[in-house]
Amino acid sequence: TPVIYWMRRDFRLADNAALRAACEDGHPVIPVFILDEVVERHGAAPKWRLGLAVERFAETLKDAGSRLILRRGAALEVLRALVDETGAQAVHWNRLYDPDARRRDEAVKSALKDDGLDAVSHGGHVVFEPWRVETGAGGFYKVYSPFWRAVRGLDVPEPLAAPGKIPAPGTWPATDSLDDWHMGAAMRRGADVVRPHLLLGEDAARDRLDMFTQERIAEYKAKRDFLDVNATSGLSEPLSYGEISARTCWHAGWREAETGAKGAEHFVKELIWRDFAYHLIYHTPHITRDNWREGWDSFPWNEDERLKEVRDWKRGRTGLPVVDAAMREMYVTGRMHNRARMLVASYLTKHLMTHWRVGQAWFEECLVDWDPASNAMGWQWVAGSGPDAAPYFRIFNPETQAEKFDAEQKYRRKWVAELSDAPGEEALSYFEAIPENWHMAPDDAYPEAPVVGLSEGRTRALEAYENRDF
Ligand code: FAD
Repeated sequence: TPVIYWMRRDFRLADNAALRAACEDGHPVIPVFILDEVVERHGAAPKWRLGLAVERFAETLKDAGSRLILRRGAALEVLRALVDETGAQAVHWNRLYDPDARRRDEAVKSALKDDGLDAVSHGGHVVFEPWRVETGAGGFYKVYSPFWRAVRGLDVPEPLAAPGKIPAPGTWPATDSLDDWHMGAAMRRGADVVRPHLLLGEDAARDRLDMFTQERIAEYKAKRDFLDVNATSGLSEPLSYGEISARTCWHAGWREAETGAKGAEHFVKELIWRDFAYHLIYHTPHITRDNWREGWDSFPWNEDERLKEVRDWKRGRTGLPVVDAAMREMYVTGRMHNRARMLVASYLTKHLMTHWRVGQAWFEECLVDWDPASNAMGWQWVAGSGPDAAPYFRIFNPETQAEKFDAEQKYRRKWVAELSDAPGEEALSYFEAIPENWHMAPDDAYPEAPVVGLSEGRTRALEAYENRDF
């Protein structure tokens, strides 16, 4: 009798516990991906990118003599229909920890068990599952450093090898066509512009990890903050879709650390921020929607997205070159440098006094490495409303940050065409990506002053913070 392997964000053959378990007994395996309401709700770029992950992995499965069956609808109904059609006795999947996925998965698991099936979930999206790490008092961690100290020396099993063979059924159930799903339909910007910047598929992720550990990891700690250097791994995108496992990256990092590569442990430490984000989203799921800390609900943040300053922020037209460069980098590549994420988030939530939720939603719309846990944690961290957050009164000055981390203005010139007489390819590609009704052109005059001045915005934010009623 066949076994169903339900894929969600785990588009890899290597280190895939659910796939391995499904293949274990030699029963025919039916891999399925379901376009359900959880996926339907994703922002434009992550949904489009997910479609590409599905397409690529379907090819991988084909090469391995298997197939990826595509179905649309509520997950439980789809799985039950497949069970009816194929006579499957078991369903395997890898666990996710965000509130939407958990709600769905818990309901699916108990219903399938009631139907008398083996419904088995496996770990693999993170290195440490959220419940594996506990404080001395038996609770969860709210601060990163002790979390890191708690996991740093733990034993982590080596990644699993890819299954040797994925047994195929005699006949395959019917499948939807991916083209009919139009997963890129919400991409208002030119997907053709973003496409060449992607790091797509398991092989590319593996190659990137190898290149990073051979060429960049030793200098990672020293260089990772500089906006104008490619010093980081760029693995957040494949990690988000499970095209590489976090455990594989953990072991690769430690191996380099053992050979004495200086920056290597720091890489593992950053990687574990992702686990920490999942630890938080699991134990405090409201982090995705509401202020994590009490009191912040009464803070006078603006949530009106029609305001000029919010629109200018989204469009990379605030008049602050480093903020505009970063917003355009995200629009063109689907990614943004980590320090730039902190700067634009700080400018939005402090100088522009705009709610972090507005920024969180725009990132979800634009990022190809969108991750429900890291994005929520990142925004609340910068805004000051989150766990282990930067205090609200610590307000980044984007100009001094730019002087420090983009001293030669390479990053700003790379992305903001209006700052150069002869703008380069990247800066110009932004204008191919944006919708026409943004009415922006490379030869526009650059704003003479920022939409909200740095000292004016800082004073306003600090006053609001001092007058808060919590
Ligand atoms: P590297 O520096 O090579 O780090 C290796 C890996 O460690 C990353 O791939 C990532 O998985 C993890 N990591 C590193 N820094 C962080 C961090 N601060 N938080 C969580 N994980 C981290 N990351 C996302 O993956 N998706 C998001 O939607 C996202 N939104 C963010 C929003 C804001 C406001 C901020 C401040 C940060 C956000 N981050 C997000 C975290 C971080 O910016 C990215 O993970 C990082 O820039 C990815 O680049 P990289 O893969 O080259 O990272």
